[in-house]
Amino acid sequence: MSDSRLVDPFGRRITYLRLSVTDRCDFRCTYCMSEDMVFAPRAQILSLEELYAVADAFIALGVKRIRVTGGEPLVRKGLVGLLAKLGAREELDDLAITTNGSQLQTLAAQLREAGVDRLNISLDSLRRDRFAEFARRDRLDQVLAGVEAARACGFRGIKLNSVIQKGRNDDEVIDLVAFAVERGLDISFIEEMPLGSVSSHQREITFCSSDEVRERIEARYTLVPSDHATGGPSRYWQVAGSGTRVGFISPHSNNFCGSCNRVRVTAEGKLVLCLGHEGALDLKSLMRRHPGDAERLRQAIMDALQLKPEKHHFRTDEQVQVVRFMSMTGG
Ligand code: SAM
Ligand code: SF4
Repeated sequence: MSDSRLVDPFGRRITYLRLSVTDRCDFRCTYCMSEDMVFAPRAQILSLEELYAVADAFIALGVKRIRVTGGEPLVRKGLVGLLAKLGAREELDDLAITTNGSQLQTLAAQLREAGVDRLNISLDSLRRDRFAEFARRDRLDQVLAGVEAARACGFRGIKLNSVIQKGRNDDEVIDLVAFAVERGLDISFIEEMPLGSVSSHQREITFCSSDEVRERIEARYTLVPSDHATGGPSRYWQVAGSGTRVGFISPHSNNFCGSCNRVRVTAEGKLVLCLGHEGALDLKSLMRRHPGDAERLRQAIMDALQLKPEKHHFRTDEQVQVVRFMSMTGG
């Protein structure tokens, strides 16, 4: 039993924090950002000290796992120093990063040294032209070199993340699994979520369900159900005869809400209790009104948790229900 002091009204214990360290990014993935994205003024983004204060409050309240995300976390200046401080915290069982991989060639070894245990690397296509369409940046080679650099550093785990869209990259599902199997990596396939308004594609046409992706994989590989569970919207299968786990992230399904163990803090310091709801508590204002008051910060987080919604409801139609972009909340 976890000793987390963060228990919501539905009896769920919060042990997992996703901490976004920037809303900026060197890519402009079509499902995530517009090309002319307007980013928050720097003064509105939590400083490295404020990010650490937030993480420290959650650790004091019993959080055991932190995933650092963004935007692209590795474009945040000074991040390695922050990670080293978090990596030194013995209360944490797991420190992870979600990255687009573009900076891993230079940073992978420093991340491992800082105490990062696991990496998630986003990779939607293995074809250069398609990758450039997805990311609006011609950087496939750089990302693949980043994957290789990371493999050499001895992380506890590396997982690829692929958003699959019908007619755009659904024919690459087998190639992506083969890429992961050959390198001993895990891979998760993500259904696109209706976050923010996008202009490049119509989501109700490109939506590709996890069930469809799994059927495609099973035409080539045997998938054995795995009991690996994260408390999030992922279900895992083992690729028979390999060390690779395949995950399916189905954010449209709310049948994982009952075991939800996580909250998010945006780069602007908003505590988001549920990805599918707008409700958020402004931790930045609180910290700037009461600098150094760790007890007040912890109490505010505990109070906010009483408002965590029981479940979310996403739909796949074009009506945008949650106006935030994923890059603001952190994936
Ligand atoms: N920049 C990093 C990256 O790309 O891995 C971290 C942040 S990104 C927002 C985290 C994850 O969210 C990525 O795997 C990305 O593919 C996914 N993502 C972004 N927008 C999404 C959307 N609308 N639906 C589903 N997944 C999305
Ligand atoms: Fe950047 Fe990640 Fe969003 Fe792509 S998914 S635009 S890499 S934040």
